[in-house]
Amino acid sequence: MPGETLLGTSLAEHAGGKGLNQAVAAARSGARTTMIGAVGNDEPGVRLRAVLDDNGIDSSYVAVSNDITGRAIIVVDDHGENTIVVVPGANGAVRLPQALPRCRVVVAQLEVPLATVTAGFAAARAAGAMTVLNPAPAADLTAELLGLADVVVPNEHELELLGGADRLIELGVRALVVTRGAQGVDLITPEGRQHVAPFRVSVVDTTGAGDAFCGSMCARLAAGDDLATAVRWGAAAGALATTVAGAVPAQPTASAIEALLAQPS
Ligand code: ADP
Repeated sequence: MPGETLLGTSLAEHAGGKGLNQAVAAARSGARTTMIGAVGNDEPGVRLRAVLDDNGIDSSYVAVSNDITGRAIIVVDDHGENTIVVVPGANGAVRLPQALPRCRVVVAQLEVPLATVTAGFAAARAAGAMTVLNPAPAADLTAELLGLADVVVPNEHELELLGGADRLIELGVRALVVTRGAQGVDLITPEGRQHVAPFRVSVVDTTGAGDAFCGSMCARLAAGDDLATAVRWGAAAGALATTVAGAVPAQPTASAIEALLAQPS
């Protein structure tokens, strides 16, 4: 309530952000990975860069801004309900570098300015790279940006906000990969619809599952897999991410994903 002060019971600080989580997922799935973004000239910025370095991710395109490093303050009550305040800080002014790193797949989320994502996808297209958009946090998007996306990866809530599958396909999206939590994934293209069943796991914490799915799927697309094969890999990664608490620690390795894929269903 306005003006109210409450006593908390504990406090923890974790590395995160959709871009960071997905970069870690991609790297652990075996892709050579570069992060484009920005941090502040502060202690959290140093820690986030260390997470990239520890995971073998190229951080040379992460700018250091005069603003603070972006932060989300998540208050969790006794019933597990969240209240979240996001302070974008340096993320609110992420610009494209003069030249994009050479790559096969560019994946973007919506925690940086939409104009930067749009310009990044246009540059990626011009360079012959595949563009993958994870439209999270949920937002309504321009037809220009959607038309530049080869693959869009929304959850059900994000898909609804974007006006549904038919609208996205009409706008020129070549494939839609709708993640549906414990219900698995729907792969929708102009040619038809295919369901990928979920992998059965013991769920501990679903944080980071969507990022695991998207980042690791992109790693397989970059390796040359077709979309259906990459989606199955992503679904295994998403399932494994629910078995470990947190977002960065939950990102599974390629060998763990291969082991789950090899299990009889
Ligand atoms: P988001 O966190 O973005 O809403 P989802 O919850 O849809 O993302 O999770 C992404 C993917 O991870 C799912 O499509 C599914 O493949 C996998 N996944 C998530 N939760 C589970 C679960 N409880 N059991 C099995 N797989 C899951």
